[in-house]
Formats: sequence, structure tokens, C-alpha cells
Amino acid sequence: MTAPVPPAPAARPAANAAARTAAPAPAGEGPGSGRTVVVAGGGIAGLTTALALAQRGFSVSLAERTTAFTEVGAGLQISPNAYRVLAGLGLDADLANVMTFPESVDLHGASGTRLARVPLGGQATARWGAPYGVLHRADLIAVLARAALASPAITVHTGMRALRAAPGPAGMRLETSGGPLDGEAVIAADGVWSQLRNALSGAATARQTGRIAYRTTVPAEALPAGLVDLRVHAHMFPDAHVIRYPISGGRQINIVVVTASPWFVEDWSSPASLDEVNTLARTFDSDLQRLLAGATGWTRWPLAGVPADAVWNDAGLALIGDAAHATLPFAAQGAAMAIEDAAVLAHHLAAGRSVPGALAAYAAARRPRAQRIQALSEKNGQIYHMGALTALARDTALRLMSEDALMRRLDWLYGWRPPAGP
Ligand SMILES: Cc1cc2nc3c(=O)[nH]c(=O)nc-3n(C[C@H](O)[C@H](O)[C@H](O)COP(=O)(O)OP(=O)(O)OC[C@H]3O[C@@H](n4cnc5c(N)ncnc54)[C@H](O)[C@@H]3O)c2cc1C
Repeated sequence: MTAPVPPAPAARPAANAAARTAAPAPAGEGPGSGRTVVVAGGGIAGLTTALALAQRGFSVSLAERTTAFTEVGAGLQISPNAYRVLAGLGLDADLANVMTFPESVDLHGASGTRLARVPLGGQATARWGAPYGVLHRADLIAVLARAALASPAITVHTGMRALRAAPGPAGMRLETSGGPLDGEAVIAADGVWSQLRNALSGAATARQTGRIAYRTTVPAEALPAGLVDLRVHAHMFPDAHVIRYPISGGRQINIVVVTASPWFVEDWSSPASLDEVNTLARTFDSDLQRLLAGATGWTRWPLAGVPADAVWNDAGLALIGDAAHATLPFAAQGAAMAIEDAAVLAHHLAAGRSVPGALAAYAAARRPRAQRIQALSEKNGQIYHMGALTALARDTALRLMSEDALMRRLDWLYGWRPPAGP
């Protein structure tokens, strides 16, 4: 089944949906090199991979198990390293329609006092060469999916579950619930619970991290004055932290509460009771309690991880995004890494090596960075959740850090650039 074009995001000037309505062409009929790649999964990793490959002349068949591109009601921070890749795919005008560009990330201690501030806005763009934006996850998926559906080189099959990948007549064959898809490589972008990962000898399995995220969005107009601004706020408490920032052009506030929990199921999300969040909120400062008082519609997410040091590829199959290296969200880099992966994978496949050589080069190029980001996320989690005594030292250290010093620590992360070349 071919996907319907998702609706255009809420209009701001410079709407460009008209260029996005071309019908998808079957694989092989695109303008490309005659080379076809199959992508399993139509999340951020899969859609970005399809677009990056199409940009380099490949034809792409993409199988997504859901019948329409949908996303949970939650926000996403897109840091400059990822924004740069999306802009390189020609998506910056579409993103500008749905993104908010916060002024800063503010870090707060348990009393609510601001301890430190990482400037964003114009300073982020000047320092890292691309903006830092926040948006609704559904808006990013809609931008990516519309571009994929408009590309004559990409055939999108929704309602088609990937079952297994094996060598086939064109090199590799993806068996799906809707029949086989053939190409020279299969890219598994099927998320943290990846089914295709099982076919790789030596691949990791998703593991419990002992943490859980509660997420919701609240209409900004329902919140007390003074609690709504154009910033990302991180509030740190013993064993918990809260992230909040505006999305949907400032009309909604995205709220994430993370805490320790043994709860773990193989699932993305399920509804959470208000009691669970209210019990946690009793330990929060009064401003945050006022903010959370109006919040409903919580979902809870067991935070699972996939260690980046295991096998990601074999001769014709490679993992990408969360399937390869799902990480704790404490550096807000999971989607960013998926987007970076897509650019690097497309670069290596286009570079003229054999497919096994290209997939190996992709994994070798990406693994050290994925490991470093996983380590950073883990460390951030420990810092955010420090107990009251160690938090005193943390708070003092943060108060003493200059904005420039805080930005410098992020240069390696946000200053990343995709490989130059084909
Ligand atoms: C609380 C929280 C906050 C976060 N905040 C941020 C943030 O601010 N910034 C950031 O960069 N990252 C953030 N992340 C991480 C980010 O959400 C993930 O890293 C990202 O969504 C991974 O994208 P993906 O495409 O690899 O996987 P997914 O989003 O899981 O997509 C996988 C896709 O594959 C499909 N699929 C699965 N199995 C099959 C199959 N067998 N056949 C066909 N299709 C299949 C699924 O339906 C889905 O569409 C956060 C994560 C959490 C939990």
C-alpha cells in the first residue's frame, strides 16, 4: 500500500507544499544511478536515509509497518549537527514552518534557581554553523514523509512489515508482509526493538536502563503567566529531572519527566496515570508543580538502550538509528544521531566501494561517535539525578561555568559535519 501524503504543517509564510505532491514512482524509475536500496522502517532514521540516498541518485524502496506516518504527541530537539544534514537535503524552508528556535538551554537546581545557561539562537548558529531548533515529532515526520513521497526515486510502502533480510537476486531481499523488496542492500531502520537486528550474528539486544520517561504536551495558553518562554529548561532533582520547551510555534509546551523505575516492557509508550506523575511532582519546586498541575494525557516510556559497540552490519545489511545504538535521551541526540547516520551511510554507499565495503566503512565511521554520545548521555543522567549532597557541589560548579565554557564543551557534538563528497 502506498502512503497518503501527510498534511502540510500549520502554515507560516513561504508555504511550499505545492512542490511536494508528485506521485511516488516505482523503484528503478527514478532519475538515479540504477542502484536500488531497501529501507525497513519509516521513522526519522528510515525517511532521512531514503532522502539522503535519493539525493545521491539511488532508487529506494521503503517499508513502514504502520498504515500512515504518525508520531506520539511529544517534542524533539534538533541540534545544529542534525539540522545541517536536514538543510542539506533541502528541508530548511519546510523546517522553518514548524520549528521554534529557543534562546537558550537553562539548567535549574532543585529549588528552581537557574544555575547555568547555554545560549542558543543566533549564538548557536554563529558558533556551530546551523540553528538549534525544537519541534513536534509529528511535524518532523510530516516534513520528511512529504519529501520522500514527492521524490520520484523513493517508493514508500506503508502497512508493510519487514520480516527478514537475506541474499536475493539483486544482492539482498527484504521479505515483508506485502511481498519481497529487492535491492543491493537492506538498511534496518526499525528502531530500538529492531526485528532485523536478530539476523546479524554478534548484534546487540535492547537492554533495560532502569529509567522511565513520562511525556505530555500542554497548551501554552493553559499555563500560568511566567511559565512560558522561548527556552529549553532542564530541572534537576535527586533521582529525577524534567525537561520543558515550547513546540508547535509556541502553542504547546512539551514536558518530559525522567526518573528511575524497574518498569520495562518491549513497547514504545503506554498511558500513564496522573497519580504516578503527581507523586513525583511532590518533590519538585513550586513553579514546576504549578506547571505540572495543569498537565494531563501523560504517556510513559521505558528507556531502552542498544550498546553501540556490537555488530551493526554484514555483507548486505546494516543497522541505522535506534536499531544500531538507541541511547538515553539525556543529551537529546538519538534522532540527531539517526540523521547523521543517514548522511554517512549514503556517502559511503555512493563512494563506489563494494556494498559490503561501504557498509563496513559506514559502521566504522559512526561507531566511535555513537559510543561517545552514549557515554555523554549516561554521564548527563548521573549529573541530572544526583542526590542532595553531591548536587551541592554540582550546583556550585555549574554556577561558576561561563556561557562560553559551556558552549565550548559542546563544540565536538554540535559542530559535527557530514563527510564531503558524493
Ligand atoms: C523521552 C525521549 C526524548 C527524546 N528526545 C530527543 C531529542 O530531543 N532529540 C533527539 O535527537 N532525540 C531524542 N530522542 C530519541 C529519538 O526519539 C530516537 O532516537 C529516534 O526517534 C530514533 O529514530 P529511529 O527512526 O531510529 O527509530 P523509531 O523512531 O523507533 O522508528 C522506527 C520506525 O520503524 C518502524 N518499524 C518498526 N519495526 C518495523 C518492521 N518490522 N517493519 C517495518 N517498519 C517497522 C516503526 O513503525 C517506526 O516508524 C528522545 C527519546 C525519548 C524516549
